[in-house]
Amino acid sequence: MGFLTDKHILITGVASNRSIAYGIAQAMHREGADLAFTYQNNKLKSRVKSFAADFNSSIVLPCDVAEDASITALFIDLAKIWPTFDSFVHAIAFAPGDQLNGDYVNAVTRKGFSIAHEISSYSFVAMAKACRKMLNPNAALVTLTYLGAERAIPHYNVMGLAKASLEANTRYMASAMGPQGVRVNAISAGPIRTLASSGIKNFKRMMSHCEAVTPIRRVVTIKDVGNTAAFLCSDLSAGITGEVVHVDGGFNIAAMNELELD
Ligand code: NAP
Repeated sequence: MGFLTDKHILITGVASNRSIAYGIAQAMHREGADLAFTYQNNKLKSRVKSFAADFNSSIVLPCDVAEDASITALFIDLAKIWPTFDSFVHAIAFAPGDQLNGDYVNAVTRKGFSIAHEISSYSFVAMAKACRKMLNPNAALVTLTYLGAERAIPHYNVMGLAKASLEANTRYMASAMGPQGVRVNAISAGPIRTLASSGIKNFKRMMSHCEAVTPIRRVVTIKDVGNTAAFLCSDLSAGITGEVVHVDGGFNIAAMNELELD
């Protein structure tokens, strides 16, 4: 029996089988969870339906987090199938391409700043707000962040600010929802090649650098992140909330590596 048996978990952000959310779905399915999925727009509907079928799920609902009405409709539709549920995974981020290239100060715009924060941070609490009454006792919410929230990473630019906001959001949500029994955590994943990350300039070179200097001498996989997300949504992590858990092979703790001194 898996450690997520009888848990009902909604997963956002499956765009391909390389998506971090796909790795999360794999781990959660393996541990016995019943899964539901969202897709952003009709272009992705059939693709997400076929991914959901990989996990014996036929619950596939639209949600564009840019629209409050779409978030509200998601939970109205989900409530018809699952009146209550246990977790959702927020694996959504977006900034316009021109924001993720070059000098931060030159690249950032008022509009780019606003879109990045709205889609990548506000959407997490917007979803929690909309489904709060549907969450079972001992529910757990998980989002995905990146080291660019804590340190300046080339070309990550305004997305780093949005991730810093998302991490603060995680703490405030954990504080507000804890008395209701709901835990809220973030996973700070190391770089993984996905559709979203391919929009970041020099991402391939960043991966090679990480591989060379990360304490475990490899980049992390969607399986590594998936296993941690499964743990954080399970009762095994009942004492953990408001945390940012790094799943990056230790990259964030290493200030310098002997290879860089050669
Ligand atoms: P991905 O496969 O491209 O997933 C990103 C997802 O966000 C896509 O499904 C995308 O849907 C969705 N999305 C964007 N705007 C949306 C909106 N308005 N409404 C609903 N969904 C929307 O990339 P990923 O790398 O797995 O990203 C998942 C999360 O992990 C993101 O928060 C990302 O910042 C984070 N993360 C990634 C890395 C990495 O190196 N890959 C590292 C640390 C953290 P569409 O495809 O339909 O646009």
